[in-house]
Amino acid sequence: MEALFCKRSFRFWVAFALGVAWTPLALSVVIGFYLLDRGVIDSYADVSYRMHQQIEPVQRLRLHIQGALVPVDEYLEDRQAQHLPAYRLLRTQVEEEFVTLSQSLNEEQALQTLLQQAHQDWQKADELASQLLHTVRQHSEPALVEAMLAYHGRLESAIDKLAAIYHQLDAVVEEDYRAAGRYYERSLWILGIAAVISLFAMITSVRLVGRLLSASVDRLVEGALKFAGGEREHRIDVVVPPELGRVAEEFNHMIERIHKSESKLEEIARRDPLTGLANRRDFDETLPEMRAQIDRFGEQWAVLAMDVDHFKAVNDTHGHAAGDEVLKQVSAIMAANLRPYDRLFRTGGEEFTVLMPRADRQMACDVAERLRATIGNTVIPYKDIELRVTVSVGIALSGQPCDTAALMETADNALYQAKTNGRNRCVVG
Ligand code: GH3
Ligand code: MG
Ligand code: MG
Repeated sequence: MEALFCKRSFRFWVAFALGVAWTPLALSVVIGFYLLDRGVIDSYADVSYRMHQQIEPVQRLRLHIQGALVPVDEYLEDRQAQHLPAYRLLRTQVEEEFVTLSQSLNEEQALQTLLQQAHQDWQKADELASQLLHTVRQHSEPALVEAMLAYHGRLESAIDKLAAIYHQLDAVVEEDYRAAGRYYERSLWILGIAAVISLFAMITSVRLVGRLLSASVDRLVEGALKFAGGEREHRIDVVVPPELGRVAEEFNHMIERIHKSESKLEEIARRDPLTGLANRRDFDETLPEMRAQIDRFGEQWAVLAMDVDHFKAVNDTHGHAAGDEVLKQVSAIMAANLRPYDRLFRTGGEEFTVLMPRADRQMACDVAERLRATIGNTVIPYKDIELRVTVSVGIALSGQPCDTAALMETADNALYQAKTNGRNRCVVG
């Protein structure tokens, strides 16, 4: 599982952070929209339908039925024929309203029943009105009053039933309003909670991914700084994301390559190309190490300062190349005749120095004499001639505490003595 995540790219982590942050918000938008659509918009559409198709026609019908009293009452009072068409018009309107209302209340059984009862009341009232308007002269006064009261009663009964329908519809509309309000409130809550969760998820995921990435970037920067500061052993350990892992890998390879080149350059800088021996620079750097060894462990070291005798004459007689060959052979003889832990340096043109750890006077003299004798007895072939050289050796022994400058001076003075005393000899300083 961890490996699966570690292999994910930088792009994946950015998309992951965005996904985690936006998912709750997107979900809340979908749910919120669903609630708004189903709860609020549908409820308001229902309310609007009831207002226009049911409540308003009921109210109009009530007014028309109430209005039907007027032409009948007035006709009975003044017997004017103009009231008859007015009643007929109202009658048509009432019938039409009943038809319209009956259609819009089609699915509401209880209201439909009430409407039918109101319609029956109206039809009976209408029958009474017809009698009153057409046979008024045949009626006695008490019969007229009785018919009139019956007409009023039927109209009121119809109006009461319509009022009951109105109140029931009003209650339904009121409930729809309240439901819409509740849905609206609920969708606001969902949006609010989702926004908070989204914000929290956003902060958490950005922090997590940021920590993951910044830890890797920090390690890269730290590695680069260490490299700039000269550390060559440090390797950058970055795996996640793979892009930075590859940068770290390349960086580590680069450090290794640079480290190898530097070591090689350092090696070259400390080595004499002609003889392959350690050079003057190496010698200068080794002296403090030697002093530290002597002072710390109380050891005695010996220094041999050696110089090829009359070397200039070799060059002058046989050429510079012959001189080079002599230097190479002398170096090889010296290296072969030293103890494994002695260190040999080419400190000048035809000058060599040997540092001998834990060596007393006798040991130093024995080694110096062995070198001198071997070199002196060696024939160095060059082209078709044979060359011979000798060396002079100055020996110095370290004291406590070690003064390297004084030690070298003693060795040089001893060498000078060996030269002035006839060369091809060893002198202890
Ligand atoms: P001494 O016995 O007093 O030491 O006499 P010397 O001739 O050996 O000393 P001198 O200092 O007069 O001459 C040293 C010569 O070594 C001079 C120089 O040209 C030569 N030399 C220095 N380095 C090299 C080198 O790398 N190759 C060759 N062929 N000659 C070198
Ligand atoms: Mg010399
Ligand atoms: Mg010399």
